[in-house]
Amino acid sequence: MSIVTPMMRQYQEVKAQYPDCLLFFRLGDFYELFFEDAKIASQALGIVLTARDGGQGEKVPMCGVPYHSVNNYLSRLIEQGYKVAICEQLEDPKTVKGLVKRGVIRVVTPGTVIEESMLDEKQHNYLAACWKDLRRGITPGFGLAYVDISSGEFYATEFNGEDAESELAAELCCIRPAELILQELLYQDSGFQAHFWDHSVGSFSLCPDETFVKNHYRELLQDHFHVSSLEGLGLGEKPLAALAVVMTLDFLNHTQKRSLDYIDQLRVYDCGEFMFLDAATRRNLELTATLRNNNRRGSLLWVLDDTHTSMGARLLREWLESPLLSAEAINRRLDAVEEMMNEPQIFHDLRDTLRQLYDMPRLISRICYGSAGPRDLVALRQTAAHMPTLFQLMAGLHSPLYHILFDSLDQLEDITDLIASAISDDPPLSPKDSGVIRSGYNSEVDELRQLSGSTKERLLQMEAQERERTGIKNLKISYNKVFGYYIEISKSRVGEAPADYIRKQTLVNGERFITEDLKKLETRILSATERLADLEYGLFVQVREQIAAAADRILQCADVVAHLDVLQSLASIALTNGYCKPVVNDDSHIIIQDGRHPVVEKIIGRENFTPNDTYLDESSQRMMLITGPNMAGKSTYMRQVALIVLLAHMGSFVPASAAQIGYCDRIFTRVGAADDLASGQSTFMVEMNETSNILRHANKNSLIILDEIGRGTSTFDGLSIAGAVAEFIIQDSCGAKTLFATHYHELTALSDTYPLISNYSISVKEKGHDIIFLRKIIKGAADKSYGIQVARLAGLPPAVLTRATAILQQLEEENHLRGPINLTEQLSFDELRKAVQPTTESPILSELRNLDVDTLTPIEALLKINQWKSELH
Ligand code: ADP
Ligand code: MG
Repeated sequence: MSIVTPMMRQYQEVKAQYPDCLLFFRLGDFYELFFEDAKIASQALGIVLTARDGGQGEKVPMCGVPYHSVNNYLSRLIEQGYKVAICEQLEDPKTVKGLVKRGVIRVVTPGTVIEESMLDEKQHNYLAACWKDLRRGITPGFGLAYVDISSGEFYATEFNGEDAESELAAELCCIRPAELILQELLYQDSGFQAHFWDHSVGSFSLCPDETFVKNHYRELLQDHFHVSSLEGLGLGEKPLAALAVVMTLDFLNHTQKRSLDYIDQLRVYDCGEFMFLDAATRRNLELTATLRNNNRRGSLLWVLDDTHTSMGARLLREWLESPLLSAEAINRRLDAVEEMMNEPQIFHDLRDTLRQLYDMPRLISRICYGSAGPRDLVALRQTAAHMPTLFQLMAGLHSPLYHILFDSLDQLEDITDLIASAISDDPPLSPKDSGVIRSGYNSEVDELRQLSGSTKERLLQMEAQERERTGIKNLKISYNKVFGYYIEISKSRVGEAPADYIRKQTLVNGERFITEDLKKLETRILSATERLADLEYGLFVQVREQIAAAADRILQCADVVAHLDVLQSLASIALTNGYCKPVVNDDSHIIIQDGRHPVVEKIIGRENFTPNDTYLDESSQRMMLITGPNMAGKSTYMRQVALIVLLAHMGSFVPASAAQIGYCDRIFTRVGAADDLASGQSTFMVEMNETSNILRHANKNSLIILDEIGRGTSTFDGLSIAGAVAEFIIQDSCGAKTLFATHYHELTALSDTYPLISNYSISVKEKGHDIIFLRKIIKGAADKSYGIQVARLAGLPPAVLTRATAILQQLEEENHLRGPINLTEQLSFDELRKAVQPTTESPILSELRNLDVDTLTPIEALLKINQWKSELH
C-alpha cells in the first residue's frame, strides 16, 4: 500500500521500531491506532474500528482512545498480555507549522507497569530476566534477576549444575514474574516457554540486544550501581546472575526511556539460604493459591494474612515462600512474634498506626519515576508523619529483631516538614493545575495569587463602570474558552452600545463585545494564571526531586514497617487461632502434639477439627506408612505436618499444642495422579517424573509427603513401584523423614522388614452398616478398606449396597480372606515384581496391568485379584 500523507509516513517510521507492540500514536486529544494494531485493539477493547484516509484515497483501519482515560485502556491491554508503545507529540502543536515531531516516550509491558490502577497492592509485579549459559560442552547454568520497578526491589541469583533448570522452575513458580525476558534462542524455544507458561510466568519478552548485554555487562553494572567491581555487588562469583541483571536494566532502558536510578539496591542471594520447595510442592501445599482454582481464599496465605499495609502483605508472602534454614534466624523471628503477643498495648497501638500508612515503596517509586502527583506527596506526608509514633512503640520492644529494625527506622521528620510546608492539604489531582503549592511557601506564588485575585476584583469594577457609563443595567462581563472575556448586552439594548465596543459574536437574544481595556486586563489575568501554574509546577517538581533524593532512607523505613506488620500479623494469627511457639533447633526430630491443619480447621471450625500427634526422627521412626479408607483424613494429616514444619521455618507459631521442629532443608510432596486436580491432564508420566526428582534430591534432612503414589497405573505396577520407592527412601543413603499414605494394604508388611517404618492408620468406627470417621491417627495398619461403607456415605442405592455386602461376604468365606486383600501373605515383593514382568504373561495379568484401578469398585477389584491368584497356583 502506498501511504503518502506525511503523518502516515511518520507513523510507519515509528511503528517499524516497535513491531511487537501496539503503537498508541498521539493525535490531539486521542491516541490513535492504525492498520493491524487497530484491528487488534478494537477487538481487545471493544471499541469501534473506523478508517482514515491514508493518502490517494486509500482507507487505513483506525481506532482511538481519549488520552485522559488512557490508563484504563492500557491496563486492559496489558492484562491481555499486549505491550503498548506510547508515541507522544514532542512539540507543542500550537508553536510549529506542519508536522509535529513525535516519538515513543515509553513502552508499557506487563512487567513494567507502575500505575497504581494496574497493580495488585498485595503482590509484587516482577520483571524477570533469565540468562542461560549457551556455550557448548558445559552443564547449562542459569542467571536469574527480577525487579519490581513499582517498589524498587531488585534480586539476583544463579543456578548451576545438573538441576539448574528445575531449580529455576521452582524459583519462577515462587516469584511469578509478570514478564520474563529471554535470549533469542530460549525465546524461540516453545518447549522452554511451555514449561513455565501455565503457573509461573505471565508473559515472555525478547532481550532487546543480547550482544550488547554480553559485551558490556561489567561497565553497565558498575555504572548503574556505582561500584568499582562486581565483587562489590556480590556478583563476583555469579557471572550468569550479572548478565541477567544487565538484561533487566537494558530492557528497562529500552522501554522506560528514563533513568531508573532509584533501583540501586541489588540483593544477590543463594537459593541454599532458604528451604527448597520445588514447583510441584508449592502448588500441592497450596501456599499462596488453591490447587483447584488458583484462589487465594483457601490457601495458607489466606489464613496467615492479617497484615495492615500493602508492604507488609508483600513481605509476608515472601517469608512464606522462602522459609529460613538457620535456627538462629528463625528463633529471632519467633521471639519477636512472642514478645508482640505479650505486649497487648503496643500490639494494639501498632496495628492502629499501620492501618493508616500508605504503600511507601510504590509512592517512592512513582516519585523517583517522576509520575507522582501532588496527592501522592500528601499520602507520603501522612505516612511519614507516623514514623515518630512507630519509633516510640518500638522503644518498648526488646527482642533482638526489634533492635535491628529499630536501628534502621528513620523518623523522616524532614520529609514530613518539607511536604507539609510546600504542598497544600487538599491539592488538585494534576500537578499542572493551580492550588498545588501551599500559601506561605513561596513569595512569588503568593504575589501571583494576590494579583489574580485583585484582577478579578478589577473585572467587577469594570463591569460596574460600564453599566454606569452605558446605563445598561443588565450588561455583564463573562468568560469563555473560545472568546476569552467579553461584555454581553441583551438584544433589546444592543442599540445603546457605545462606539468603542467591538462586536465579537451575535446570539439569539444578545450581542457580545470587547473593548481595548478589557483586552488588556484579560492579557494580564491570563498571563498571571499561566505564570502561576508554571511556577507551581516547577516548585512541585523541585519538592518531588528533593524527596527522590531521600528515597533510600524512605525505602529503609518501608522495610521496617513491612517487618513490623508481618510480625504483628503472625502474632495476631497465633492469638486468634491458638497457635503455639515451636521449639526450633538443629536436631532432626519432628515432634508435634495435637497438630491441626491450619486451613481445614479455619474452614470447618476449630471445634470440628480433630488434632493429631506426629513423631518422626532419624533413628527410630523415619517413615509413617498410613492406611485407612478414603475420606479418613490421610491427605489432610500429611499436609498438616508439612505445613507445620514450613510455618516453623518461616518463623511463625504453629497450629498445635506443642511442637519441636528440627532442621529441614527441603519438603517434597507428591500426590498420586488421580488426586492431582490441578494439572487436570496429569499423567502417570508426570507423577513418575516428580517421584524420581524426589528420590534424587531428598536426604536425611528432608521431609517427604507421598500421597497415594502409584495410583496412576494398574494395581500391580503401582503397588510394586510404591513398595520400591518406600524401600529406597528408608535406606541410609536417602533417609528422609517420610509420610506415606497408600491404599495398598500390602505395603503394611514393609514394617516387618524395616524397623524404621511404622504403620499407622486413621481410625474409623463401624456402627451397623455405617462408618464413622474418627479422624484420629493410631498406631497399626487399617484392617479393612471400608469401600462399601464409604460408598454408602456417597449415597449408592441401598439395593446395590446390600448386594455388594453379600458378595463380599461370600468372597471372604470362599477365599479365607480376612478383610483387606493381603497379597504379601502369599507373595514377597520380589515375587510380585517378577509377576508383573512382561515375561510372565497371562491374560488376566495383562488385563490387570491396563486397568484403571480407580474405576474399579472394591468388589470388582477383589474378583480380579482372586482370579489372578487362582491362575498363579
Ligand atoms: P483421605 O486422604 O484419607 O481420603 P482427606 O484427607 O482428603 O482424606 O480428608 C477428607 C475430609 O475429611 C477432608 O475434606 C476434611 O474436611 C475432613 N478431615 C480430614 N482430617 C480431619 C480432621 N483431623 N478433623 C476433622 N475433619 C477432617
Ligand atoms: Mg487423600
